[in-house]
Amino acid sequence: MDKQESEKFKTLLQAYRAKLASGISHIERDMLNKSQRDSSGDLSGYTFHMADQATDNFDTEFNLDIASNEQKFLNEIDEAIKRIDEGVFGICEECEKPIAVKRLKAVPYARYCIKCQEGIEKNNR
Ligand SMILES: [Zn+2]
Repeated sequence: MDKQESEKFKTLLQAYRAKLASGISHIERDMLNKSQRDSSGDLSGYTFHMADQATDNFDTEFNLDIASNEQKFLNEIDEAIKRIDEGVFGICEECEKPIAVKRLKAVPYARYCIKCQEGIEKNNR
């Protein structure tokens, strides 16, 4: 991937990050009004769930799940930005082959190519 293209992904990731960060503070504020339970949500879900889709119908536990997932996404996005800075963005961490740009456009923080990702998900189940 050339520098120009990776810079585009960097901009995209930074926009994601800003949106996520504001979503998390929104959820945290919401949760303060409800309970102080520990967050022990399942972090394995990789659905990109924006907080602004949340409604009052969601119970507290679900809100906690979203918050943990968003924190996880924030970390993933930070890591992806770091990989751009290090010039290794878009390289699969497993097989070290380039990740398809089409996949990166859908999942800009992807660490693995689609093949390795499928293998990892299979092992997790
Ligand atoms: Zn791979």
